[in-house]
Amino acid sequence: MDEDQAANEGPNHNGQYATATTAEDFRINIAEVNRRIETAAVRAGRDSSEIELLPVSKTVPQERIREAVAAGCHKLGENKVQEAFRKSAEMSDLDIDWAVIGHLQSNKAREVAKFASEFQALDRLKVAAALDRRLEAAGRSLDVYVQVNTSAEESKFGMPPEELLNFLRELPQFPTLNVQGLMTLAVFSSDLDRVRTCFQSLRALRDQAQETDPELIGAGKLSMGMSGDYEVAIEEGANCVRVGQSIFGKRALPDSYYWPENG
Ligand SMILES: *Cc1c(COP(=O)(O)O)cnc(C)c1O
Repeated sequence: MDEDQAANEGPNHNGQYATATTAEDFRINIAEVNRRIETAAVRAGRDSSEIELLPVSKTVPQERIREAVAAGCHKLGENKVQEAFRKSAEMSDLDIDWAVIGHLQSNKAREVAKFASEFQALDRLKVAAALDRRLEAAGRSLDVYVQVNTSAEESKFGMPPEELLNFLRELPQFPTLNVQGLMTLAVFSSDLDRVRTCFQSLRALRDQAQETDPELIGAGKLSMGMSGDYEVAIEEGANCVRVGQSIFGKRALPDSYYWPENG
């Protein structure tokens, strides 16, 4: 186990995340996350109303998600398309917007176009084209974030920072995609300075894109920060924090299931 893997089991990712099962459990966890968001925002001189909390429900079964919805969650993030699509069908009686936040293969664009309201991991034109074609046919549109690899780790998805501007310049040809901003996953490390550097890079890229051409990047929002690091992300300008374990409890599956060793 290398240092970063060890850190992944360490202070930010250990068993402190108790499993939430009842609506009351969810209310307590969400209130606590919101309290910490507020505190981080105040520390950074920001208004917390510009920060969205996106609860991430991957691996959580329907019964518990229904309790989370009863506690007020009406938008949920899921990493895998199949799982998200299945859940959207199982819970079509509920008022839930689904955000797909994980890597997508272009042959899965069809599913995303059917049910998702947001896709946060856009990193290839082939996927953009496939989504646009399917969305147009379905008469739908999709909010998208462009995912950037700010950690230079092979195992992370997202485009290299130096390709971002050219990529953004291509997106207007896909009118069903509403660009919201940029998304990243920070390095997995208990060294929060290294984590912070990733968030600062994303913000600098956003600023650079806005300076080059404000039309390129929509609202220019930053989706960054997860259970172990969302307060740091808020200090660095996050507009959307994607929080799973701090709301739902510890996941059984290791993160390597979502971020395969070789991308
Ligand atoms: C699972 C996941 C998260 C949330 O991670 P937690 O540690 O559960 O807060 C955030 N972003 C992405 C892309 C994820 O897959």
